[in-house]
Amino acid sequence: MIPFNKPYFTGKETQYIEDAVRKGKISGNGYYTQLCHDFFERRYGFNKCLLTTSCTDALEMAALLIDIKEGDEVIMPSYTFVSTANAFVLRGATIVFADSRADHPGMDEDSIERLITAKTKAIVPVHYAGVSCDMDKIMDLATAYHLYVIEDAAQAIDSFYTGKDGIKKPLGSIGHLAAFSFHETKNIISGEGGMLVVNDNQFAAKAEIIWEKGTNRSSFFRGEVDKYGWVAVGSSFLPSEIIAAFLWAQLENMDAIQQVRKLHWEHYNTALLNWARQNEIQLPLIPSYASNNGHMFYVVCQSIEQRQTIIEKLQRKKILSVFHYISLHSSSFYADKHTGGVLNQSDRYSNCLLRLPLFYELNPQQIIDAL
Ligand SMILES: *Cc1c(COP(=O)(O)O)cnc(C)c1O
Repeated sequence: MIPFNKPYFTGKETQYIEDAVRKGKISGNGYYTQLCHDFFERRYGFNKCLLTTSCTDALEMAALLIDIKEGDEVIMPSYTFVSTANAFVLRGATIVFADSRADHPGMDEDSIERLITAKTKAIVPVHYAGVSCDMDKIMDLATAYHLYVIEDAAQAIDSFYTGKDGIKKPLGSIGHLAAFSFHETKNIISGEGGMLVVNDNQFAAKAEIIWEKGTNRSSFFRGEVDKYGWVAVGSSFLPSEIIAAFLWAQLENMDAIQQVRKLHWEHYNTALLNWARQNEIQLPLIPSYASNNGHMFYVVCQSIEQRQTIIEKLQRKKILSVFHYISLHSSSFYADKHTGGVLNQSDRYSNCLLRLPLFYELNPQQIIDAL
């Protein structure tokens, strides 16, 4: 059986975990956490990074940081993972769902402005498949209407956006805040894991406090205060050193991992061109302003029936292909709360998008031959 995903281990993970144990400090914010923070801040110029136990946690921190309250509205795509919305719903927000683009499952940037009301507090763009949203359009709206932008960059590690100024910016560095995931289904993994990026420095000190259970423990350990205590609302969002040690082994090998994943992606994209044309299937789009990080290879079928036929054909050859999100506006939890009208494209991706296996040790030719 060829699985849909297979986590890749570099071989150094258990060695670094052993080292963390040997160092005798396995709670959070220690040696390996610092190595990971420094890596991201140096490599991508992120203002401040905080490892979390998931991307979900990082999004929950973001909702706390921008002080989401009952009745605030948050705009995001409907075609996304539940955590994108849940983090804000937990604080009482009303979610206003935007449709996806016709040429890409990411949110339709041109549909956002008409969704903005006096209650809108934030926009949460999701970089689907690691492919950037058109961030200039979103940041311009945020400036004009005084909104916060929180990038759901769960799938977007090591991916970039080149805006109208011609500068290539890493995803996660553009919004006021951003959230990454190191779940085992992502490019760089730690089992469960994530990271909050704080680009707007007004949130830096508060983020550290929320991260450390509402205390100023981080300042205390830097010697900035002589005792620490409860200073604000917070929770326990930081991962143990065991998780950070695992993550460090992955980060050391990031370039090799990314290179292999992108090669697999290109292999699919080139080899499936004729197949897609013959079957009227849509191949993934990488807009000129976006980069490809080899996170996901998906195709968009003409119909749910065509998708089912392909799934079954692959299954007979012991290959697991999977569809993706049920649009959140039609989920059992949110359907009766949704006020945003018809989201045709979002529904189309729910019915027609199919993801093919993509992992480090894959031979994509096996799937191509089976199609
Ligand atoms: C994976 C994912 C998440 C959640 O990440 P966790 O680390 O599992 O919490 C959130 N949003 C998107 C778009 C994702 O793909």
